[in-house]
Amino acid sequence: MIQIPRGTQDILPKDTYKWQFIEARLHQIAQDYNYSEIRTPVFESTELFVRGVGGSTDIVNKEMYTFQDKGDRSMTLKPEGTAPVVRSYIENKMQHDVNQPVKVYYIAPMFRYERKQKGRYRQFVQFGIEAIGVEDPLIDVEVISMLMQIYKSFGLSNLKLYINSIGDQDSRSAYNEALVAHFKPSIGEFCSDCQSRIDTNPMRILDCKKDRDHPLVKQAPRIYDYLNEESKAYFEQVKINLDALGIGYEIDYNLVRGLDYYTHTAFELMSDAEGFGAITTLCGGGRYNGLLELLDGPTETGIGFALSIERLIMALEAEGIEIPKPQGIDLYICTLDDASRTAASRLIHQLRAEGISSDMDYKNRKLKAQMKDADRKGAKHTIVIGEEEMDTNTAELKNMSDGSTKQVKLEDIKVLVELIEEVGS
Ligand code: ATP
Ligand code: MG
Repeated sequence: MIQIPRGTQDILPKDTYKWQFIEARLHQIAQDYNYSEIRTPVFESTELFVRGVGGSTDIVNKEMYTFQDKGDRSMTLKPEGTAPVVRSYIENKMQHDVNQPVKVYYIAPMFRYERKQKGRYRQFVQFGIEAIGVEDPLIDVEVISMLMQIYKSFGLSNLKLYINSIGDQDSRSAYNEALVAHFKPSIGEFCSDCQSRIDTNPMRILDCKKDRDHPLVKQAPRIYDYLNEESKAYFEQVKINLDALGIGYEIDYNLVRGLDYYTHTAFELMSDAEGFGAITTLCGGGRYNGLLELLDGPTETGIGFALSIERLIMALEAEGIEIPKPQGIDLYICTLDDASRTAASRLIHQLRAEGISSDMDYKNRKLKAQMKDADRKGAKHTIVIGEEEMDTNTAELKNMSDGSTKQVKLEDIKVLVELIEEVGS
């Protein structure tokens, strides 16, 4: 038997309503914040991610689904959404769009070859946003406030927002030197990844999952002490304006993004709900002032975040929050013989065209089993059609919530629609 690939999942019909509800909410909130949807391909040139995500990251080093296409080009299933959006921005010269800054969002599957564990899939769906073309603490605050609004709108409360500033490039080169001096003498005690990070990307040692409890990580120099005046002022403005919105946060000086093109604001949202499990990160994001130029684009700056719907659902489950179940169908028609089945088929055909959701029995069940089927489908009304109903062309429309009935003419679609809609759908 052929099985589903490791680390992927089928979202079954009984569960898709959760995804549809969440996605509808995400589209709505994005609209409230005036972000427009962008759709980029599922695969891109491998080079885009090598440059745009960075050759020293886990994503590029270990996690990409890369293949040669039949034209012998190296392609990669997208592992993240920012590089593709920035590629599209540059290619479509969006810096010249009349609407500035460019504010976009996406909901799309991402692919990473990771070790399977709870909350970590090889295909997962990310919702992400990017605001490109402006460097202003207030847009950083907008991005963070939207992120918080998303989780709050679902009723989640065990949320912890961490923020940090990693300053500009100048601040960071001094900081990287200090990190090397701090870690180099004892780097032998760290994992093999960190032993190469010390040369390629020392800041990444601070967010290594294996070495996070090493005392030297805890005693490491703080980026804050290396921020220049401009970077400190920018960070102050972000904090003041978050305070003005009443958004609570903690500063995590070890929250870094290792790559050169990341600048200033970095943030992460965690769940501290009991039962959320070992993985606590819901969402991560930050400002990337060097990314566009790195991808041969204009000198514009951007900021964004990405979250996965899988982890959002985990957080909802951990806090016992249920997504409303979809409503049942408006009408189920039970049939007693072949002639009435044809009549029922015609009737629901007409009613569906009027927007009345309806169904009937296709498995030749007895009446009792049909009524059960109607109940399973959450039918708000039922009609039974047999010989008598066919002769008189009338039937009883039964309201399943209060048991009341009304005589209806079978060919009088308009009246039927009105009666059904009265009850509300
Ligand atoms: P982690 O530290 O958990 O590996 P990351 O730093 O790789 O996360 P990002 O690249 O910042 O994560 O992705 C943003 C968000 O996407 C994460 O906060 C998380 O919610 C989600 N995410 C990342 N990888 C996965 C995955 N394999 N399965 C499900 N969700 C994921
Ligand atoms: Mg990861």
